[in-house]
Amino acid sequence: MKLSTDGLIIREQQTGEDDRLVTILTRDYGVLRAFVRGAKRIKSKSQSATQLFAYGKFSIYRGKDAYSIDEAQPIEIFFDLRNDIEALSLAQYFCELAGELAPVEDDADEYLKLVLNALHMLSKNKRSHAQLKAIVELRMMSLSGYMPDLVACGDCSEFSDGGMFFSPVEGQIFCGECVKDHTCIALPNGVLSAMRHICYVENAKLFSFTLPEESMSFLADVTEKFLLTQTAKKLKTLDFYKMMKG
Ligand SMILES: [Zn+2]
Repeated sequence: MKLSTDGLIIREQQTGEDDRLVTILTRDYGVLRAFVRGAKRIKSKSQSATQLFAYGKFSIYRGKDAYSIDEAQPIEIFFDLRNDIEALSLAQYFCELAGELAPVEDDADEYLKLVLNALHMLSKNKRSHAQLKAIVELRMMSLSGYMPDLVACGDCSEFSDGGMFFSPVEGQIFCGECVKDHTCIALPNGVLSAMRHICYVENAKLFSFTLPEESMSFLADVTEKFLLTQTAKKLKTLDFYKMMKG
């Protein structure tokens, strides 16, 4: 059986002298792992389309117990990422997150759009690293069933933009009267609005918000805390990014 879809290579591993195993975030079938047989013999166009951060059209053969790539046509290869180790490590983190959170054998259109847009912004330096990190973390959490409830205080339903606390454990906000848990984080002005924006806004506006640099990096710390608390995952690429960031 043959599958035809577009996707982004989010991981590559050498498995033999001439074979590689790649993980692809595909639009129609979610995350799938496929062999690139005879990687050195495959046509050069297909070769470049099967390296890390390559986005392309794939024709994939589904064998009895493995997928393998028949043909690959590159659409965009995010070369610029390789010039900046910090950007590269952040891109690897986005890819690892997609590999962990995107569905398998199911439609992953929203995930693919999110990661492609983030890589584009990252490679062209169009948004700060903190902003892209916060967007990808919180939006992907929301897509994969961890959307926090940021509308009003979880206890008394007070609706306010200021003076609110976020609980990474409960995925809820609380007002100053109702907050009791020491794990709750006091959200500075603007950070709650930015979190609401990331969770609830339509795709076209996702990357269009601004915050002062300090608040943006606070936001990225909150979204990371939320992600790590909820998923309880150990993410090697996140540790690497933080090391590169210094
Ligand atoms: Zn309250």
